[in-house]
Amino acid sequence: MNLPAGTIINTIGHYIAGAVQQAAAARSSDVYNPATGAVTGKVTLATPADVDAAVAAAKAAFPAWAATAPLRRARIMMKFRELLEANRDELAKLITQEHGKVFSDASGEVTRGIEVVEFAMGAPHLLGGSHSDNIGGGIDNWNLRQPLGVVAGITPFNFPVMVPMWMFPVALVCGNTFVLKPSERDPSASLLMAELLKQAGLPDGVFNVVQGDKVAVDALLAHPDVQALSFVGSTPIAEYIYSEGTRRGKRVQALGGAKNHMVIMPDADLEQAVDALIGAAYGSAGERCMAISVAVAVGDIADALVAKVAEKAKKLVICNGMESRAEMGPLVTGVHKAKVEGYIEKGVAEGAELVVDGRGLTVPGHENGFFTGGTLFDKVTPEMTIYKEEIFGPVLSVVRVPDFATAVELINKHEFGNGTACYTRDGATAREFARRIQVGMVGINVPIPVPMAWHSFGGWKRSLFGDQHAYGEEGVRFYTRYKSIMQRWPDSASKGPEFVMPTAQ
Ligand code: NAD
Repeated sequence: MNLPAGTIINTIGHYIAGAVQQAAAARSSDVYNPATGAVTGKVTLATPADVDAAVAAAKAAFPAWAATAPLRRARIMMKFRELLEANRDELAKLITQEHGKVFSDASGEVTRGIEVVEFAMGAPHLLGGSHSDNIGGGIDNWNLRQPLGVVAGITPFNFPVMVPMWMFPVALVCGNTFVLKPSERDPSASLLMAELLKQAGLPDGVFNVVQGDKVAVDALLAHPDVQALSFVGSTPIAEYIYSEGTRRGKRVQALGGAKNHMVIMPDADLEQAVDALIGAAYGSAGERCMAISVAVAVGDIADALVAKVAEKAKKLVICNGMESRAEMGPLVTGVHKAKVEGYIEKGVAEGAELVVDGRGLTVPGHENGFFTGGTLFDKVTPEMTIYKEEIFGPVLSVVRVPDFATAVELINKHEFGNGTACYTRDGATAREFARRIQVGMVGINVPIPVPMAWHSFGGWKRSLFGDQHAYGEEGVRFYTRYKSIMQRWPDSASKGPEFVMPTAQ
């Protein structure tokens, strides 16, 4: 361990039944500040017994929480929202210090999480059912949406605040109790969120955190009291969680990886498209599931596009994300940096044209940080590994195609279908793109079309396993069971048994 003087090593534990668990851990993992490369924390890795304790706390808290009026649950979210605003900088700082993204971007992440909390405040309305008076014979028919019980969320490193908040605000206002298993790479923000929920008045046990790795995830998958699992992360793990969870009769939504294409039509505003590409490809060092990693240059726009993107990619301000001038920070870990740089090497070996090479970047004063510069490949083809696989780093590939139809075909053939964008000034092209593209989230002259909190988030194809997207109305459906009730009272009931199919009379 290479520790600069004065570095404080935090122990990051579980949060169960309203308290941080301080007990010594049998297993733990290092947490880094990616900008300095220093170990700043040790995160406890849960055993199956820790998971049992968290699920037991959530199960014990469920009956009272499920019986709490939706408006009262929503009021706790209102208070939580205030506390998130008051602690926004603290949360953003925790994100930057463990993830590496620039502070302003981390603050934006908090905002996108707050928006889901704001959506969840509408619980009384969201949970309202429909009612049909007197469907026949004095009978009324209506529906309820009831909570599932204990539900779990397993989240990735790239949005340690926002992605958990895609899940738990909606799950909680629906009356469920929750166990969060955050990424072990940036776990600290989860404890601050737990503390703020408690301050907001959430009863102990309603929200719990188990830190950990595959052991914790497998224990959640196997636990008979976990009714549903929401997962966000890479595709192989998403597929594993979906198949293992559904095999055991659990409800699962598992969001996976991505390879998001931006089509640039010859009639696009080139300056706008270039700026959009720079932000969407290199923002957060490309560690966003909605990052653009492929620019599809249509027709004769390619040369100018590549030249302009290259010029700007070389000028990116890359440094510690806590510096206000930073445009891009480091990658999350040294292991991930090596993986990303391995892809760059492979791109060269497979014959792509390396226009800007981000390898070997040193940031003065941060020589041990996990930095890789903005990288640009031209003349990438669909057979190349850097086209097929998700790199999850600041590497943009340009694929040249002759026309719009080829661009659409290319995107539709890719195994992932998370997000996509089309830059054009032509309404008919935009409309055709939105209708024909086999991707879950589409931007027209919008590079990163992350839906607002009341529209649900999710990809198609191997970017999502399950039936419901995250948050919004689909989130409410995911976290509730639908029940239909028919009722009549003795005065209006006819006498004697009925043997024919009941129909409206
Ligand atoms: P990851 O799949 O490695 O980890 C996600 C979670 O799964 C973590 O909590 C981790 O502890 C756990 N996990 C890891 N390996 C496991 C295993 N073998 N068995 C059980 N659980 C395991 O993903 P990551 O590297 O943290 O995040 C980056 C990935 O997440 C990228 O692929 C990105 O596209 C994806 N992502 C997708 C979305 C989306 O909405 N589709 C959003 C954010 C991130």
